[in-house]
Amino acid sequence: MSKPLSPMMQQYLNIKAEHADKLVFYRMGDFYELFFDDAIEAAKLLDITLTTRGQISGEPIKMAGVPYHAAEQYLAKLVKLGKSVAICEQIGEPVAGKVVERKVVRIITPGTLTDSALLEDKQPNRIAALAVLKKQTALAWAALESGEFKAKIIHADQLADELARLQVAELLAPNDFRLPENIAAQTSITRLNNWQFAPDTAFTLLTQYFGSQDLSAYGMQPENHPAAIAAAGALLNYLKITQSQLPPHLDALTLEHEHQYIALDAATRRNLEITTTLSGKKAPTLFSTLDNCATHMGSRLLAQWLHHPLRNRDHIQARLDAVAALLADNTSTELSGSLKTIADLERIAARIALGSARPRDLSALRDSLLALATFRLPQSPLLQTLGDSFPATAAIAEHLQRALLPEPSVWLKDGNVINHGYHAELDELRHLHTHGSETLRQMEEQERQNTGIGSLKLEYNRVHGFYIELSKAQAEHAPAHYQRRQTLKNAERFITPELKAFEDKYLAAQERSLALEKQLYEELLRQLQKELPKIQRSARAAATLDVLNSFAHTARSQNYTRPQFTDHSSLHIQNGRHPVVEQQVQHFTPNHTQLTPSRRLTLLTGPNMGGKSTYMRQVALIALLAHTGSYIPAQAATIGTIDQIHTRIGASDDLAGNRSTFMVEMSETAYILHHATAQSLVLMDEVGRGTSTFDGLALAQAIAEHLISKNQSLTLFATHYFELTRLPENHPSAFNMHLSALEQGQDIVFLHHIEAGPAEKSYGIAVAKLAGIPSRTLNTARKHLAALEAQTAQQHPQLDMFAPLPEHNAEHDAKHTPNPLAEKLRHIHPDDLTARAALDLVYELKKLADEAA
Ligand code: ADP
Repeated sequence: MSKPLSPMMQQYLNIKAEHADKLVFYRMGDFYELFFDDAIEAAKLLDITLTTRGQISGEPIKMAGVPYHAAEQYLAKLVKLGKSVAICEQIGEPVAGKVVERKVVRIITPGTLTDSALLEDKQPNRIAALAVLKKQTALAWAALESGEFKAKIIHADQLADELARLQVAELLAPNDFRLPENIAAQTSITRLNNWQFAPDTAFTLLTQYFGSQDLSAYGMQPENHPAAIAAAGALLNYLKITQSQLPPHLDALTLEHEHQYIALDAATRRNLEITTTLSGKKAPTLFSTLDNCATHMGSRLLAQWLHHPLRNRDHIQARLDAVAALLADNTSTELSGSLKTIADLERIAARIALGSARPRDLSALRDSLLALATFRLPQSPLLQTLGDSFPATAAIAEHLQRALLPEPSVWLKDGNVINHGYHAELDELRHLHTHGSETLRQMEEQERQNTGIGSLKLEYNRVHGFYIELSKAQAEHAPAHYQRRQTLKNAERFITPELKAFEDKYLAAQERSLALEKQLYEELLRQLQKELPKIQRSARAAATLDVLNSFAHTARSQNYTRPQFTDHSSLHIQNGRHPVVEQQVQHFTPNHTQLTPSRRLTLLTGPNMGGKSTYMRQVALIALLAHTGSYIPAQAATIGTIDQIHTRIGASDDLAGNRSTFMVEMSETAYILHHATAQSLVLMDEVGRGTSTFDGLALAQAIAEHLISKNQSLTLFATHYFELTRLPENHPSAFNMHLSALEQGQDIVFLHHIEAGPAEKSYGIAVAKLAGIPSRTLNTARKHLAALEAQTAQQHPQLDMFAPLPEHNAEHDAKHTPNPLAEKLRHIHPDDLTARAALDLVYELKKLADEAA
């Protein structure tokens, strides 16, 4: 019979049973231990040693552990791999003969991190929940670090776009909901039971949390917004479970509306390389180019603004006015220097809310709030509002100044956190302590004199307490009342009754003082929790100021200008540049853009590498930047109302989604044709390239025509099909532009300059030469080309895409081939028929029909 389980193992297994889907970090002294399969998995993922401890059913129990003090780096690694970890701490005091009580105090999941070591500095960390109820689909999302808490009713097919917009780290979804395949590749998914999305429970939890009767103040009613309420409730409940408490610092829940931001689908965000390059890197992107922020919270807000171009012109203008004021004031460098001293207040506020703020968080908060109070900002309504939030935290800063030592210890358990003069008893205990060190030095001196051993040392260490140390040789002369405490290689350590008595007193004072510091610190945290809204407001104001100042800095250093806006649906850009590419080439050629209701579609031709993609992206990026309140890389621009930006650029296989290049291209195009409006900006790069020439050309033309006549969007349409350049003959709102290039002998020089009219040649062979195709192959290609051109000229001088379409076959046949059935019917006069004749006629018609089939 196998031995019964040890009480500790029983405790472990009970806890593990409740957290079967997570790794359990089980605290044992100075280590977190993992057991069984958790140990095997962690050993592999973290590269730590797998050992064994005891047995269960005759099998050794697998075990792996990480030291408590180094746990964060291991947790960071696991969370990056998408794992969730339940942290199980010892909560009771150890009692002899009993297992110490343990409890899961926190669950660490990818979307609920707040520890600085576990988070990317410049990336937001959002968690979202998806609910589908009564034909309504909704997302709710929160960021523990900033307190953001929002919900939105969405269309089911927009889920991927919304997750891309919000850069969600973890998505909570009902167990039985089938998520599109490509979503799991981008976001960590946590499945919850369907009942966790019950709208009634959600309603109760939310109203309790906000202390309100219902949710109408938040723009939500159970009958109209069932899914939004269910999603927000499930999310809040999940936060409660993972944090072991309801996070006290979430903002009032707001319902976001479609028309607040310019819509960008997921593919467009990717193609425009807003925060990630197409190859998945962090730079060079629009964000990396513009990020001159001095603080991490500023950088995170900038990324958020770039993903959320505003539609409200007043808000845009307020930001632009602030940038203008900062530019005029000429203090942006100075302000940036001051902002550099400001800590990540947003994340500190979150840690205060969750009770996990460390001493250095609070001293950083103190210093930052004091610094913010000295900021002098130039005049603009927005800057004024931002500046006004700083004085409100003066009292908090003063309190922290009184409560904390100027440089507190890193760990509370080491003491030396609370300031002198803050608490009388602490001062007294500390006095005993410092005074103790003096006494100690005196005792040392005394002992040296008594023994006549000048090198006698009186010292302290954590394990052995106080001791007198003598070298091996001197030890022989130790007085009789010296009791041996420890023998080392070269020395002996002793204790005396007098020293022991002192040690007891000294340690008691230290213990009490540490306990008191802990208590005072926790009290301080509780007081700060009440002040959270003020701290959060200051944090947000500082981050906003940082972004605006970064805009001003970029505007000055990169020569950006202030965009103008109009209510028409048009886009005029004078000498526009691509903000990222212009940083990477020696000389960037600026280009104009003109799109108006009467000139809606630009057909863009030109050689490969001629600059078509760059040009198209630059137009979208300028439009996007203008709507974030930034100045833009152009000499001047007037931008009309824009509701969406769509791009269909580049070809990439969606391996995760199991779709071929052509399929991806067509489904993205379909999305655009279904959604783009007359106020949308659409960029199409070489649609149709993924299939045969004729198919591709036919599709490209039909798509361009759809965009002109149905969507009526402002469109840039780059193409390789020369046949398409005749489109303006039938569609006056389409016009040709090309990127110029010069041929020099067999070589090509790209001018990157946009000019009216279609390109004359495609220069494919010249570009191939540039790319290093061997000259023998190029010569063969030239011969093939000449032959093909001659052949085509003979057969059909030019493929005429604009000849009237042949009529549909069925109709054509109907008109030109006599149909006996129709002929017969045409000669009948129904009013003249008797009943008998009519019946005969039916038989006759049936016969004719059978013959024709
Ligand atoms: P295409 O789409 O026509 O093949 P790209 O837009 O990819 O061409 O441009 C190819 C390269 O040409 C870019 O990587 C960039 O280095 C350079 N380039 C593009 N546009 C410009 C410009 N306006 N000024 C200077 N260099 C440019």
